[in-house]
Amino acid sequence: MDFAITDQLRNLLNDIRSFLEAEAFPLERAFLHEGFGAVLPGLERLRARVKERGWWLPQVPKAEGGVGLSLLEHGLVSAELGRTPLGHYLFNCQAPDSGNMEVLLLHGTPAQKDRFLKPLLAGRIRSCFSMTEPEHPGSNPVWMSTTAVRDGDHYVINGHKWFTSSAEGATFAVVMAVTDPNGPLHQRASMLLVPCDTPGFKIVCNTSIMGHRGEGWSGHAEIRYENCRVPKENLLGQEGAGFAIAQERLGPGRIHHCMRWIGICERSFDLMCAYAARREVAPGQTLGTRQFVQGWIAESRAEIDAARLLVLRAAWMIDQFGAKEARNEISLIKFYVANVLQRVVDRAIQTHGGLGVTDEIPLSFFWRAERSARIYDGPDEVHKLVVAKRILRKYGVEVHTGGA
Ligand SMILES: Cc1cc2nc3c(=O)[nH]c(=O)nc-3n(C[C@H](O)[C@H](O)[C@H](O)COP(=O)(O)OP(=O)(O)OC[C@H]3O[C@@H](n4cnc5c(N)ncnc54)[C@H](O)[C@@H]3O)c2cc1C
Repeated sequence: MDFAITDQLRNLLNDIRSFLEAEAFPLERAFLHEGFGAVLPGLERLRARVKERGWWLPQVPKAEGGVGLSLLEHGLVSAELGRTPLGHYLFNCQAPDSGNMEVLLLHGTPAQKDRFLKPLLAGRIRSCFSMTEPEHPGSNPVWMSTTAVRDGDHYVINGHKWFTSSAEGATFAVVMAVTDPNGPLHQRASMLLVPCDTPGFKIVCNTSIMGHRGEGWSGHAEIRYENCRVPKENLLGQEGAGFAIAQERLGPGRIHHCMRWIGICERSFDLMCAYAARREVAPGQTLGTRQFVQGWIAESRAEIDAARLLVLRAAWMIDQFGAKEARNEISLIKFYVANVLQRVVDRAIQTHGGLGVTDEIPLSFFWRAERSARIYDGPDEVHKLVVAKRILRKYGVEVHTGGA
């Protein structure tokens, strides 16, 4: 494994860092105090600058208008972008759109690509991914109630979803629905492209999360699908292939999330060290002279570096052998990095005292927005079980984890 990077990539990472510090960091305060809508005009202006610099869609192949980075290279870019909550949006590689782009690139028909993918790549529209249901455990996604029933040339969708991130203001949803309730467990559901202006697509509300409902791209919506009819041409991939495609979507998606979390760790670490260096706890004595704080700094550095190497290894494995071969590595990083993130942000907050929990700096946002890292895309426990199950199999132990 060789994680050495070219001078060209190093320069790109440095340029992106300088750009974000100069242009995106100044927008953060308005984002933290007034929300996504307040900074949208500024973000659109900066998106145009990102396009001019040739950085737009770092994760997408060149033939489709992107930069064409490998997963490992994009991971490194993602860690830079993650240093600000606005970074990924500026480069049009934000979740959930990046995952939907990937799925459309791989499985979309030419007509689906024209209608849904092209404007998404251009940044003219946004999308969402609607799988989790309030009535069923998201950690066991084969168990769901939303159905898509064929009626002539259409599918009629009925169901109840929540945590559909970024649904408010999205143009279409990728919806998981059961198309064959009696089929084999993993072939019961399909993915459908549902324009959000389809009659029967009803956003109930953005669910309030830790006191914040979010708005637009930063919200998480509860949605009802009530006799929502879409043409059969809106089926994405084969009927019954929903779970297989979802798994495909999640592999690289977890690298993107983990590297974004590394970026959050690095920013938190910078803030922690800078504050420790300037905050005096007694005349002439900074926090950095105290051993508790020194311990937090050293522990955080070790954990971030370990996390980064683990993610780069997983990205390298996916680049070399595909997501299926890297399943263990993907599960390992998903829970490990999410927990490093939580510990590092927590130490950075603690170092800042009261200032740490205000919205004057992004730490409190990282804390409340990223607590979910240990839950979405598979909770910690499920990933740990999956890894342990595979390891124990080699020792002759068959573990049955139920549906999950
Ligand atoms: C901020 C955020 C954004 C999200 N965005 C989206 C989105 O865009 N689209 C979408 O479809 N979904 C989204 N989700 C939903 C997310 O994928 C689910 O919350 C996740 O899969 C867990 O499902 P659940 O909430 O139903 O928890 P459950 O499945 O009910 O699990 C509850 C808890 O039980 C424990 N647990 C579960 N299974 C096991 C097991 N086998 N053994 C031991 N313990 C277990 C875990 O600790 C888990 O946290 C989002 C969630 C959040 C928080």
